[in-house]
Amino acid sequence: MKTNLTVNSARLWDSLMELAKIGATAKGGVCRLTLSDLDKKARDLFSGWCKAAGATITVDRMGNVFARRAGRDAARPPVMTGSHIDTQPTGGKFDGAYGVMAGLEVLRTLHETGIETEAPIEVAVWTNEEGARFAPAMMGSGVFAGIFKEDEIKAKTDREGVSLADALESIGYAGELPVGGRQVGAFFECHIEQGPILEAEGKTIGVVTGGQAQRWYEVNLTGQESHAGTTPMERRHDALLGAARVIDMVNHIGVTHMPAARATCGVIESLPQSRNTVPGRVFLTVEFRHPDEMELKDMDATFRAQAARIAGEIGLALDIKEIWHFPATPFHADCIAAVRAAAQARGYAHRDIISGAGHDALYMARVAPTAMIFVPCADGISHNEIESATADDLAAGCQVLLDAMIRRANAPG
Ligand SMILES: [Zn+2]
Repeated sequence: MKTNLTVNSARLWDSLMELAKIGATAKGGVCRLTLSDLDKKARDLFSGWCKAAGATITVDRMGNVFARRAGRDAARPPVMTGSHIDTQPTGGKFDGAYGVMAGLEVLRTLHETGIETEAPIEVAVWTNEEGARFAPAMMGSGVFAGIFKEDEIKAKTDREGVSLADALESIGYAGELPVGGRQVGAFFECHIEQGPILEAEGKTIGVVTGGQAQRWYEVNLTGQESHAGTTPMERRHDALLGAARVIDMVNHIGVTHMPAARATCGVIESLPQSRNTVPGRVFLTVEFRHPDEMELKDMDATFRAQAARIAGEIGLALDIKEIWHFPATPFHADCIAAVRAAAQARGYAHRDIISGAGHDALYMARVAPTAMIFVPCADGISHNEIESATADDLAAGCQVLLDAMIRRANAPG
């Protein structure tokens, strides 16, 4: 659906560039770690802009910031958007910042035109999405959605031993509002794709239908260390050879489940690291991703069976530990439809797409009808100082956000 309101592309771009000055790096990127003094500056700037656009600011005990524009019906739960303004140590100008500045642009457009929506509109800044200073990632939205316990998350420390609770205090963003536990009518998040698909296909808008499921494993292969010169080939129990076959097999599983599957071995440690000893022990990490839980289950079963076969052939002991399972997150059909309809009505080239990365919206989807809007980024590159997107694409995504939010906020409730 199309509204007669148009976002201001130049204003959106200028705000993004202004925000990017806080923590700007020499290479054109941004370093603005969560709950640092720079993060405080960015939060203050955002809050000031929102107040000037007629919104009210509140902060919860996780430091999540909410800018709220009243609706005609105060009893209705807000239609919310937002993202994060913390960055990776060598981050770009758009990851997270775009979703927040797009929300600000929605507030500004409504403010200058004096349009009233039925439900209130809110823009959220979620604390520590990146997980660069404090692990895990997506803390603010995770506590809001009840995934994490507030006390446990606040006790997490950075490498200097500073707790999240102390870091919140020190920048003055330890708010008083309880975290979550309130109704959200819908949640939309604009984000750069952080992948190459939209750009490659010449599409402006990615209608994000959900996030993929993930399974992470730690694999230990144990054979026997022996003399490289005296041990005949047929008597070897070479753990590194087993690992090589496992790595190739894992890649093959990804290939046979294309195009949606991802299969990666990221870490390998071989022991005893001696050039004339047959390796006896190997530690290996494996991760699989797929938007379809059943397909992922199938990948898991193939992996276990093939790893057992490989270990058996070489005479290795095999130990596979699944250390993490993140379920597939399908977004809400109504919210997806609202995004698709807005892109259609505005005449933007669009396609459905799955989110390959983690986002606050994946946690919000557990407590509110949710969808995301992707726009292309140059060469699909993100978490990098050269991250880049065009003003036109960013404005198009913001326009779709505005249209979808208005439609949702004025829907009979
Ligand atoms: Zn992000």
